[in-house]
Amino acid sequence: MDDSFVKTHEVQALFDTAAGIGSADGSPRVKAIMRDIIEAAAAVIVRHDVSESEFWQAVTFLQQGADEFGLLVAGTGLEHFLDLFMDAKDAEAGLTGGTPRTIEGPLYVAGAPLVEGDVNLSKDPDDTGALYMNGRVIGPDGEPVSDVILHVWHANSKGWYSHFDPTGEQTPFNNRARIKLGPDGRYSFHSRMPNGYSVPPGGATDVLMQALGRHGNRPAHVHFFIEAPGYRTLTTQINFGDDPFAKDDFAFGTREGLLPVPQRQGDSAYIAFDFRLQRAAGAEDEQLSARSRAAAEPALA
Ligand code: FE
Repeated sequence: MDDSFVKTHEVQALFDTAAGIGSADGSPRVKAIMRDIIEAAAAVIVRHDVSESEFWQAVTFLQQGADEFGLLVAGTGLEHFLDLFMDAKDAEAGLTGGTPRTIEGPLYVAGAPLVEGDVNLSKDPDDTGALYMNGRVIGPDGEPVSDVILHVWHANSKGWYSHFDPTGEQTPFNNRARIKLGPDGRYSFHSRMPNGYSVPPGGATDVLMQALGRHGNRPAHVHFFIEAPGYRTLTTQINFGDDPFAKDDFAFGTREGLLPVPQRQGDSAYIAFDFRLQRAAGAEDEQLSARSRAAAEPALA
């Protein structure tokens, strides 16, 4: 059977009712989006002749994988697609230039200490070399950006993030900070070297990646939000250009322009990287997206 079945009067009427199309109540936007999602799912079911058993297996997969949705949207390319979509809309609006945006990922934690100066991100010991990173935050004309808050977070040498570390070995804000920059827009921090990581073995993302014949690895990387009054908030990350997965990132977070190759000396690595922000067109540009994020209480000093 072809998917014209989805277009039959009976099926269309079912989906209209299911999406509340005839109801005066509810949200018109939610109704319109749900209507399209339901029909798209139905078309996939027909096109691939999905059986009842396969359908319920998929439901169970999504139920059991609910706590990995943040990884699933990255691994399926949907989070990167959002970046491509926002880039395309920016290009249409003539908004180009600046450091590329890239995916946030699911592992930011709000409430990291606000610190200044040359910052040590790593509060916990870690048996690995040091990472030194520094550079400037500049605007479209190369001007230094003042009053920047640079949020930075990365994994430890085992690829685990504090707050999400199943070994429980890290303090809440290890390898995390919000750095307040001075009028020259210069930043500088050092830390214990992050390593790349893979999705949790046996978890929903791992199961899906295996079924797709893919791996679940990311290269070593460092995440950033950069916010400053008058400028558009940037969500980005740098990935180590010399990591074996630099060009083969399961989450599609690596992008041209975000792959600096660290200078290695012994077991230390040095990265110089400047961030260029776009100017904000309005107050909304200065906000972070409304994504729900983990939060933790700052530890008592
Ligand atoms: Fe990450």
